[in-house]
Amino acid sequence: MLDLSENTFAGPALRGHSCTRTPLALLLILPLALGLAGCGGSSSSSSTPTPNPIPTSGTPDARADVVLGEMTQAEKLEMVQGGVTINQEWGYTIPLGAAGWVPEISRLGIPALYLADGSVGVGNAVGPATALPSSIASAASWDTTEAAKYGTIIGSELADYGINVNLGGNINLIGREPRDGRTFETKGEDPILAGKITAAHINAIQAQHVIGGIKHFAFNDQETGRGTVNVLIDERSGRESDLLAFEIGVKDSNVQSVMCSYNLTNGQYNCENNHLLNDVLKTGWSFPGFVMSDWWGTHSTATAAVNGLDQEQPNQQYFSTLGQAITAGQVPQSRLDNMVHRILRAMFAVGIFDYPQTIQAIPAAADAAVAQEAEEQGAVLLKNAGSQLPLNGSTLQSVAIIGSHANSYVLSGGGSAQVHPIGVPLVGVLQPCPPCWAAVIWDPSSPQQAIQAEAPNAKVQYADGSDAAAAATLAASSQVAIVFVSQWASEGMDEPSLNLTDLTSTTPIDQDALVDAVVAANPHTIVVVESGGPILMPWLSQVSAVLEAWYPGQSGGPAIADLLFGVTNPSGKLPITFPASEAQLPRPVIPQPPDDVTPFAVNYTEGYNVGYKWYDVNGFTPLFSFGYGLSYTTFSITNAALVNNLSSTTNPNFQVTFNLANTGTVAGAEVAQVYLGMPASLNEPPKRLVGWKKVLLQPGGSQSVTIEVDQNDSSHPMSYWDTGSSSWLVAPGTYTVYLGNSESAASLTTVGTITTQ
Ligand code: BGC
Repeated sequence: MLDLSENTFAGPALRGHSCTRTPLALLLILPLALGLAGCGGSSSSSSTPTPNPIPTSGTPDARADVVLGEMTQAEKLEMVQGGVTINQEWGYTIPLGAAGWVPEISRLGIPALYLADGSVGVGNAVGPATALPSSIASAASWDTTEAAKYGTIIGSELADYGINVNLGGNINLIGREPRDGRTFETKGEDPILAGKITAAHINAIQAQHVIGGIKHFAFNDQETGRGTVNVLIDERSGRESDLLAFEIGVKDSNVQSVMCSYNLTNGQYNCENNHLLNDVLKTGWSFPGFVMSDWWGTHSTATAAVNGLDQEQPNQQYFSTLGQAITAGQVPQSRLDNMVHRILRAMFAVGIFDYPQTIQAIPAAADAAVAQEAEEQGAVLLKNAGSQLPLNGSTLQSVAIIGSHANSYVLSGGGSAQVHPIGVPLVGVLQPCPPCWAAVIWDPSSPQQAIQAEAPNAKVQYADGSDAAAAATLAASSQVAIVFVSQWASEGMDEPSLNLTDLTSTTPIDQDALVDAVVAANPHTIVVVESGGPILMPWLSQVSAVLEAWYPGQSGGPAIADLLFGVTNPSGKLPITFPASEAQLPRPVIPQPPDDVTPFAVNYTEGYNVGYKWYDVNGFTPLFSFGYGLSYTTFSITNAALVNNLSSTTNPNFQVTFNLANTGTVAGAEVAQVYLGMPASLNEPPKRLVGWKKVLLQPGGSQSVTIEVDQNDSSHPMSYWDTGSSSWLVAPGTYTVYLGNSESAASLTTVGTITTQ
């Protein structure tokens, strides 16, 4: 496990020799770029007979078995361990700047595996790459086609750097704990939205012949004490919440690797959790690929191997003695063969043998355009009183830009998902502790410059926000004030609070007070939020407009400007509820570990009531509901009807049909959402998301839309988990179908009911 206490940030990074192609300046800011001897390189030398060539045809399983049949025991053991040497746990570099690797077996022609992070773009010390907006912004697009473009950037840039395994796919349902420092890497609080968006990312990544990953399996929902937190949850709740997100992600993407998480579930460490790894993932979901540990997340040799771990990363602390455990009869030989088979079949399945990578420059300009599109599709307009937005670029005379380095930069999230963007970032104003090892990095993209470009005749001036009075004076003398507020977040820590807390300035700025001062000076105040997840907005009623930009990525400046000026009409919808207060959370105070080593229980008494389901069950009114987001146009939904095809033996489904019209004056996209109320006897939350469609319409345009909900979909839309039979069942009873544009009751209408026998 990653022992944060022993690591100081990056300083010793360049111990030993480095094989990366990363500029020194960048290496100095990298958390994982710290010193292992050895580059690239082949391993096994052996006097075994000349092997048969790698088979060029057959199924991945058949080809894997042929190769497996050629391997010596030593070669097999080598494949199930990371290449970092044990005594250099912290302080290593890895070929290609990756986070982990498995050396090639040249005798057999088995290529090395290079494993690198890539949740919001290529990570680790791999090299400068396109910093995409946060994954949560991709989820906020509610658009799997957009998500595929996002995944393609990650996959293709990894491939261009010679990386063939992606450590991405963070699908933890942090709606349980929105202060989680990794919220920005995730896809929000709903298992179906998160599952479908993640699957779209992974499919696109694997299409680039890079093994995709999904993580952190499972219930890794808080960073505080993440190595020892023991999540207690009953089977049905788990299956219908966090595990459902993983199930959809796994089944809809054919993902080839799963990373088990640091924490324990129901008393057993997840990287040796027989129930999660063997019963649920491998047997239940027929996952054919391999399970790798999170970094230093392995806790045993025989137990981990027998209980389903296929590869220890990044070293061999425990699996170095796997050979002895087999000899001693603690682990069957067939289990090692299966571990290796799974890794090889993953390599064949995505084409690692068939499509050798060519290391080449990434198409930075083209990819930056996709990053901008992703942000424009994912930013969420939360308030727009009196149609303050969009701004009119031709008439605007003066604009005050305030705070968050908005003259030159946009904020990014920290930790292993950190991307080192193209261009020169602003680095490490302060490194808060924890996490200690992650720097604050501001991506080079200037909202001010982009706003000036949209309003060429306006005087666009900047105040850094450190002096609220000076900012207010500037705002008072400007037609419009745009305050950029930001909340830095990182792996290895949770947010201190949902209130804006400045972790990035040497003298912290009270950003809430800053907004208050500015709006008091100028009522035409727009707030742009750069955050990884929900924040509280004590000033909400005062300001004219609020745009949630998430961490907007390195094309964030132009994207934000396009949204503010209506070049792009906002269409993002929240994939996570914004609470009205921390008191509304299932755990108002984040549970704290007693020390660094003792497992401590966190009882998920909220069960499957995660996110909006929790708010619904408790009758809480949040600040902003799941699914909510405004547009510069208006839409109407008419003629909604329900078509019941559940008696079909081949494709049981129901359909919601309706007419969606753009009733405003500009083009825009609406996300129509279908929710289902389950039969009362099941004690389920009042409703669950079961389908949606994002439709782009010209002003005055309309479209007849059908949202089909398939009973047999991987999301089990009509089912509950029956613990007795260990299966998903559709209960007899009455189901209520709702349609609208957010989950709040006020924005939904009842389309009809379905009664099953
Ligand atoms: C993180 C993983 C990451 C790994 C390698 C761990 O600290 O939890 O998400 O993939 O490091 O960088």
